Amino acid sequence: MKHLSKEQLNLLKELLIKEKQEILDEFIDEENIINNSAQYVEDVGEQAFDSIDKNILIKLSEKNRKKLKSIEEALEAIDKGTYGICGCGKEISFERLEILPYTKYCKECSKKTKDVY
Ligand SMILES: [Zn+2]
Repeated sequence: MKHLSKEQLNLLKELLIKEKQEILDEFIDEENIINNSAQYVEDVGEQAFDSIDKNILIKLSEKNRKKLKSIEEALEAIDKGTYGICGCGKEISFERLEILPYTKYCKECSKKTKDVY
């Protein structure tokens, strides 16, 4: 992911964390929001998909569950240094990632798969 600067990566990471938090917050009791938010922010990056409360996952819609998984994978990819590269080997442009930070596909491949996540 040499095509992304450190600043760009940090920005995309923030976007991913924000999206993840928004999905999770919908399903957390109001009383618990403050505690959980603090915890989630702290754990960001190291937190594996498995560690998310199973009850939250069950309640999530299919679409949100898929999105959450893609977000987790994207965050993992950032840590591993594999983020922003499509399966076909092409670099995914920052302009595209800014709109869809959790996409795994370049423009051409997403047209073929019709699967943005
Ligand atoms: Zn591709």
